[in-house]
Amino acid sequence: REASANSLEINRLATSDGDFDTRLEALLAWEGVSDAEVQQRVSGILAAVQQRGDAALVEYSNRLDRLSVAGMAELTLDAERLRQAHDNLPAEQREALAHAAERIRHYHEQQKPTSWQYTEADGTVLGQQVTPLDRAGIYVPGGKAAYPSSVLMNAIPAHVAGVAEIVMVVPTPDGVLNDLVLAAAYLAGVDHVFTIGGAQAVAALAYGTETVPRVDKIVGPGNIYVATAKRAVFGRVGIDMIAGPSEILVVSDGQTDADWLAMDLFSQAEHDEDAQAILISWDAEHLEAVAEAMARQLPTLERENIVRASLASRGALIHCRDQDEALALINRVAPEHLELSVAEPQAWLPQVRHAGAIFMGRHTAEALGDYCAGPNHVLPTSGTARFSSPLGVYDFQKRSSLIQCSPQGASRLGTTASVLARGESLTAHARSAEYRIRD
Ligand code: NAD
Repeated sequence: REASANSLEINRLATSDGDFDTRLEALLAWEGVSDAEVQQRVSGILAAVQQRGDAALVEYSNRLDRLSVAGMAELTLDAERLRQAHDNLPAEQREALAHAAERIRHYHEQQKPTSWQYTEADGTVLGQQVTPLDRAGIYVPGGKAAYPSSVLMNAIPAHVAGVAEIVMVVPTPDGVLNDLVLAAAYLAGVDHVFTIGGAQAVAALAYGTETVPRVDKIVGPGNIYVATAKRAVFGRVGIDMIAGPSEILVVSDGQTDADWLAMDLFSQAEHDEDAQAILISWDAEHLEAVAEAMARQLPTLERENIVRASLASRGALIHCRDQDEALALINRVAPEHLELSVAEPQAWLPQVRHAGAIFMGRHTAEALGDYCAGPNHVLPTSGTARFSSPLGVYDFQKRSSLIQCSPQGASRLGTTASVLARGESLTAHARSAEYRIRD
C-alpha cells in the first residue's frame, strides 16, 4: 500500500478485460454475517424480554449501554421532552429539519394508495380497501452515530399512512441523548420514545412489555444485534428489510466536474468500511481525472480512514465501451443509489430497470436525497433493488379484498365454485355455494 498523502487505492476494471465478470462478481459479493455467537446471544435476549418484560429491558440497558437506571420511567421520554428538544435547537438546525420534514411529507403524500371498488353487470361489487397499521415501531440507531434524517425518513411515511401510534426506540449509550434526533421525532409525529436499543429494544417492540406497547411492524436500520433480532421476530411482526452497507453507482459521460464526482463517491464510502462506491465511464481520461481528484481530496475528509478502507476493498473505477454497456452494468449491479451524471438522463430512464433511487443529471448530488429532496433514503441494498422498493407509505399499510355478491352474482359464481369444489372433494365448500344458486 502506498502511504503518501496523495495516493488512492481503488479497484480498476475494464469491461474489455478477460477476467472482468469474475472480478465484478467478487466486488459485488456481500454476505451479511451473523455468526453463531451473535445468534445465540440475541435469542437469549429475546427470550429474557419476552419472559421478564421491563425488568429485562432495564438490566440489558444498564449492562450494554452502560447506564444505571432503576426502572423504565427513566427510559421513557414524553411528548413534552421531544417538544423541548425541538424548541431548544439553534434556529438554523430547527429550520433545516423543518424544511426537510416538509419536503419528505409532501413527497410521501403523493404515494398514498387509494381504496377502490367496481360493480359488475349483475350487481356484484369487488374492490380493495387500504388500511394503516395500528402501531409501528421505529428503530433509530444510537450507538456509533445519530441520524436525525433517519427518524424523518422512517416516521413520516408511517404518519402519512395514517398509523395511529408510532413508537420509537433509540439507545443512549452512556446516557448520551441527541436533541436533533428527539426534535426530528417531534416533527415527524412520533408518539412515544423509549431510550432502549439493540436486540432488547426489538424484543420489546415485538412482544410488548408492561411499558412498551407491542407494535405490528418494526422498521429502521441497526447493527448486527438489531438485524439478527429483526430477522428472528419476523412473522410475529412485520419488518421492513435487512439492509446491507450503503452503495452508490455513478455513470458519467465525462462532462461532469471530476471534483464533484470524487465527492459524490466519497459521500457513500464515508458511511462505513464496507460501503461501496463505483464509477463507470466510457471516457478513460475522465476516469483518470476523477482518480486524481479523489487522491487530492481524500486528505480533506474527516472520515478519511473509513473512506480509504471502503475504496480499497469495495470501490471501483470501471471503464466500459459505450452507453449500452453502462446500462447493462447498472441493471446487473441493481444499485441502492444510481447517479446518472450524463447530458440527457431522462433518455436513459426507460432502460434502467433496477435501482433503489435514480439521481438524474450533473446537479443532483446523491447527498441531497439523503436529507431533504423528499424521496425516502431507506433503499434496497446489495442488489435487492431487483425485487424490492424504497421504504414508503405502502409499507405502513395493508390491503383487504372486498367481495359483495348480488343474488344473481352468487348464483353465477356458485356454479363455477361448486364444480371446482366437488373436484377437490370439499363438500361443504360446494354446498355452501350451491345453497345460493337460483333456478
Ligand atoms: P445500534 O443502535 O444499531 O446498536 C447499539 C446497540 O447494540 C446497543 O444499544 C446495544 O444494546 C447493542 N449491543 C452493542 N454491543 C452489544 C453486544 N456485545 N451484545 C449485545 N448487544 C450489543 O447502533 P450502532 O452500533 O452504532 O450501529 C448502527 C448501525 O446502523 C451501523 O451499522 C450503521 O451503518 C447502520 N445505519 C444504517 C443506516 C441506513 O440507512 N442504512 C442509517 C444509520 C445507521
